[in-house]
Amino acid sequence: MKRKLIAGNWKMNGNAAANESLVRAVLAGMGDAACTVAVCVPAPYLAQVQALRAGTALELGAQDVSEHAQGAYTGEVSADMLREFGVRYVIVGHSERRQYHAESDAVVAEKVKAALAAGITPIVCVGETLAQREEGRTSAIVKRQMAAVIHTNGHCISEIAVAYEPVWAIGTGRTATPEQAQEVHAVLRAQLKAATEHADRVLILYGGSMNAANAVSLLAQPDIDGGLIGGASLKAPDFLQIIAAAR
Ligand code: PEP
Repeated sequence: MKRKLIAGNWKMNGNAAANESLVRAVLAGMGDAACTVAVCVPAPYLAQVQALRAGTALELGAQDVSEHAQGAYTGEVSADMLREFGVRYVIVGHSERRQYHAESDAVVAEKVKAALAAGITPIVCVGETLAQREEGRTSAIVKRQMAAVIHTNGHCISEIAVAYEPVWAIGTGRTATPEQAQEVHAVLRAQLKAATEHADRVLILYGGSMNAANAVSLLAQPDIDGGLIGGASLKAPDFLQIIAAAR
């Protein structure tokens, strides 16, 4: 059985004091977790959380990375910089970045490449809007988003993680049913299988209002290998219940 991954996406939340109590509570509660646990924190807090997690099993993640290696890109953070802070995962192509920062499929694919080159596992987010789902275009949308990443990254594609995050489920309290999520995960798995013989080792996470109540049934699906958790990752008891559900 594959070891599942539960990754918290703090988004633009937190402050030094709140981060410290949250990380300490997660560390105190996660014990010898059966899954890999990561927190993807705002860039200014990477050093703080790196220090708090030192010597523990909690992995550190970032929420974005530049597609460029270095240079005149004001405000950007490179993959090598993330690596210096012990970052193991980076979220790439989150729907909020695609929506508010106009990140195209091509840019997302280049960011994946930059992360892989630095030895960081990109968590590549794909997902459809409500309108796209209602038009019956869910598979076409996620396949298009994934195709760009496969095209740019070739055989390295087996080194990524994927998060299926239906846009209509993010932060809305509306979750995909386990069957709806599994259906899309199976589509993504098949697409990965056509691209690499190692598709089974790619972790495909579900994200979108995952919480303590729905985690068990979502994580029981054959192609759901973990979760990308937004709101619930900011409350240690909720995050810990999701971690406990991932075995
Ligand atoms: C996310 O932003 O990646 C996410 C899944 O958020 P939430 O769990 O709050 O829906």
